[in-house]
Amino acid sequence: MLSFAYLIISTFRPVNCNNFYFCCVHFLPKSETIKYIAMNIEEIKNQHKLLKEWTYEITPIEKGYSDKTLYINVSDNTIKTKDVPPEMKEKFIGGKGYGLRYLWDATKPDTKWNDPENEIVISGGPICGITQYSGTGKSLVVSISPLTNSVIDSNVGGYFGPFLKFSGFDAIELQGKAEKDIIIFIDGVHGKIEILEAPAEAIDSHVLAEQLTEMYADDDRDRKNVAVVSTGKAAEHSFIGMLNFSFFDSKRKQVRLKQAGRGGIGTVFRDKRIKALVCKVPGVKGNLNNVVDLKAIMERGKIFNKEMRELDDDQAEMRTKGTAHLMEIMNDYDLLPTNNYKFGSHPDIKNIDSEEWKRRFTQGIPDGCWIGCNMSCSKGVDNYEIRTGPYAGQKVLVDGPEYENAGGLGSNCGIFNPDYIIEANFYCDTYGICTISWGTLMAFIMECYENGILNEERTGGLKLNFGNSDSAMEVMHQLARGEGFGLIAGLGVRRMKEMFIEKGWGDADFLQDIAMENKGLEYSEYISKESLAQQGGFAMTNKGPQHDEAWLIFMDMVNNQIPTFEDKAEALHYFPMFRTWFGLMGLCKLPWNDVEPENNAETDEPAKVPEHVDNYVTIFNAVTGQNIDKHEMIRQSERVYNFQRIFNLRRGFGTRKYDAQPYRAAGPVTIEEYESRAERYDKQMKELIGVDPEGKTTEEKRDIIRKYREDQYEKLLDAVYFRRGWNSNGVPKISHLKNLGMDLPELIELIAPYQED
Ligand code: SF4
Repeated sequence: MLSFAYLIISTFRPVNCNNFYFCCVHFLPKSETIKYIAMNIEEIKNQHKLLKEWTYEITPIEKGYSDKTLYINVSDNTIKTKDVPPEMKEKFIGGKGYGLRYLWDATKPDTKWNDPENEIVISGGPICGITQYSGTGKSLVVSISPLTNSVIDSNVGGYFGPFLKFSGFDAIELQGKAEKDIIIFIDGVHGKIEILEAPAEAIDSHVLAEQLTEMYADDDRDRKNVAVVSTGKAAEHSFIGMLNFSFFDSKRKQVRLKQAGRGGIGTVFRDKRIKALVCKVPGVKGNLNNVVDLKAIMERGKIFNKEMRELDDDQAEMRTKGTAHLMEIMNDYDLLPTNNYKFGSHPDIKNIDSEEWKRRFTQGIPDGCWIGCNMSCSKGVDNYEIRTGPYAGQKVLVDGPEYENAGGLGSNCGIFNPDYIIEANFYCDTYGICTISWGTLMAFIMECYENGILNEERTGGLKLNFGNSDSAMEVMHQLARGEGFGLIAGLGVRRMKEMFIEKGWGDADFLQDIAMENKGLEYSEYISKESLAQQGGFAMTNKGPQHDEAWLIFMDMVNNQIPTFEDKAEALHYFPMFRTWFGLMGLCKLPWNDVEPENNAETDEPAKVPEHVDNYVTIFNAVTGQNIDKHEMIRQSERVYNFQRIFNLRRGFGTRKYDAQPYRAAGPVTIEEYESRAERYDKQMKELIGVDPEGKTTEEKRDIIRKYREDQYEKLLDAVYFRRGWNSNGVPKISHLKNLGMDLPELIELIAPYQED
């Protein structure tokens, strides 16, 4: 039988690399890095070799759509356009919907992430690119994930998505594998696509995005018209590669990066030997989407901007602190992941709380990741001097940290040092590493180290206790260099867990309990133990536990607004569907509920923020000329959501057993953990379970709590599946698909064998 390590090696071949564990081909000494930066842009460009040039007529956007997709196969340099069929537009809407449809058509059920036929699809959606309302420039990226072996989608800012639309395409499909490193240039000024062999550019994003922006801009003023998609060296050696989408910050006069982090799409990108996508447009004008009713959008935009001006400072401080404003709120409610989700708060929070980030973020600069965003939460630390690694000594602009970065890289690893968090954030970005996966996997490594599952011999001499920021940083540099324990970390939590079990390094049940992954994806940075609904919000997701599908902790745990299973099921129906809608449209979710209208609490359903929901319905109708209402909005999402669930089924997943969660997400695994909240658990035992904790050992009490919580989760699954129109195995019912108008033959064929009645 093949060993696990062999299986990893045989299924994962980093670019240019024949030896997975000991590869150092991509080690980039400091001198080389500096050479990349100092090298004249013309010198770099002179080394380009044109592999394919293709001209096209730019299709103007009409009511939010061009109805054209750009297809590029980098194996044979095929470039063509596809017309978007009307039925696809009707059922899949755009953004993630288009990504899923194209990926389904392009792949077979057993297509692996690193097969040439796997695609990366990037699509904005009909609202993407308007500038009169906040949060309207997002792209959705879809691929077969190296982490989950199923479909992943990731939502990202930056200008590429809108620029792709303005260049005449609602989506781009990237298929195949190039032989050598290439750049794809989409020239939306002249209607031209080029595929270029590009050996001389850097790989790491903060250098590469600067190089390409300078290379393709006509002059300084033109830099804002260039957008770059890239990743970094760590993406070549790991399963957690991330994509950076750039935009030129005209105030700072620097290129900035936003991340499509989840699921390893950067790894797929480099496996295809794509160094970068570049898109250039002539400029951004008021109504490039050719919307039907611009006035209606502007009116809603003005109202929202007023709310931001008048309410943000009291409600969320997004414009001064970004999402990092959540740090002490999470800490206060025992929700801040600390030491691999063991605890929810820490006395050292003050070192990394929102005031600390406010002090470090440059203030007074509009920080929108797309034009017109008044929420302006893309904060940055300017002139940060790098202390470690190949860029030590350079002063850089670090994007963020956002809440997830500070929570994942910081508290979850027991690290409360803001300089470390900024440095790790910078290197995650430029190396092309998902910060959430990195934070969660490093926390897992540290708990394994503390429990003797890992030791210095196994980590190559690194002490990886909680709080050891120097060693954590070194692991990241190792990964970028493709060497040492860094390569083990780059496997992600699930593969590490399986590897440690196979090697007999730790108790399999304990590893299963503390490995914070579901479906192969690392958890994002919230404690879900005290919120049953949030446990479902994480583990019942289609792609794996990411908070963008459902975030119900406050509704459930803090405000107790959804006490019954039926209430929770309704929330786990509505909110994932509502949030899916942002991904169909090219919208950012944050302006929906991070700041609420003043009278929101007095509305019928304050958690839904009805006035903002109405804004979105109005904007969709004003862009497209359609006439949907808030109910049809949810049905639009439901069609795509069910399609994605069945896509998982097609790939061998998508049933109840794949919605199981690690016990750490539901309750206390260790004695230490139980005792840290003994009063709470004892009280629950008495009041909810009807068992007197008096006289029982902590082990006995922990086991009683566990049995209860695991049983509650199973009941939750039953209730949610029922509400979603799925059977008890979590498979959509044929009758439900018919009701939605989503009874496509290929879907019915797949789910038919799973029908229970
Ligand atoms: S709210 Fe923040 S993340 Fe969303 S579009 Fe605006 S700046 Fe970007």
